[in-house]
Amino acid sequence: MAESTPSRKPLTPRKPPSGAAPTPAAREALGWLHSARFLVSASQLHQLPQGDMPEIAFVGRSNAGKSSAINTLAQQRQLAFASKTPGRTQLINLFALGPRDLPDAYFADLPGYGYAAVDRGKKLVWQKVMADYLAVRRALAGVVLMVDSRHGFTPLDRQLLEFVAQRVRTGEVKLLVLLTKADKLNRTEAQQATATAHEELAEFVTEESDVGVALFSSVKRTGIEDVAETLRAWITAGPVRVVTDAVAPEAQASDSPSGDAPGTPDAPPASNPD
Ligand code: GDP
Repeated sequence: MAESTPSRKPLTPRKPPSGAAPTPAAREALGWLHSARFLVSASQLHQLPQGDMPEIAFVGRSNAGKSSAINTLAQQRQLAFASKTPGRTQLINLFALGPRDLPDAYFADLPGYGYAAVDRGKKLVWQKVMADYLAVRRALAGVVLMVDSRHGFTPLDRQLLEFVAQRVRTGEVKLLVLLTKADKLNRTEAQQATATAHEELAEFVTEESDVGVALFSSVKRTGIEDVAETLRAWITAGPVRVVTDAVAPEAQASDSPSGDAPGTPDAPPASNPD
């Protein structure tokens, strides 16, 4: 685990899997995750529901284990694989959670990036949609970034984080990195992967930020309860943002709490959504 400097609080500690029965809090969180159901697909931001429903975005390179992680967390076999069906891979797929008649959160499954076999025009469109989503989506409460624990952060992961960096530093958006496929690592490798991730994330840690790292395995179910509790807490902690009038779809840029949408940075990532 990375050492914290006096001016920076340590990253949120993550409990190792204990094998013990789930705590009541974990059981409640898992039940909540299990309520996840597909809501809508969107190819552009203005097609997403507007309002103040807190939203958690799942992002990661293609093949990082994002769909498996969402399915595992939701304890459903096929939920996020809907996002992999032809025609849906380049869409933002939104899921609702909570009581059917009174959802309390959305999950947004963003397209995997880094997939080579996508033509350049489509990549550029998607870079902008992802950049805008992360930078200005008003109800974004947190981002879960999937990183393959064997490979660590890639340049595309770092570029993607830059889009949301400022909001993470102010604590407006929380960040959790799942080091996926942890079942493929031995204990030493797992410790190393965690330490490296903490180093990568040090630049996002401030007094206000909430940045965490968790080893995760969909195969062995490592980290599931801890992650479930973390995501549940993100939602139940309640929004700290000031609620303003609903934003008209076409006025997406004003989705930014500060009102000045940064849009796509000058140097968008060479990301390749699949
Ligand atoms: P996505 O493209 O990020 O949605 O990744 P997928 O969830 O489709 O997973 C990509 C590949 O990694 C598939 O072959 C999965 O079976 C495999 N995979 C996903 N999660 C795990 C895991 O926890 N452990 C192992 N060993 N393989 C995994």
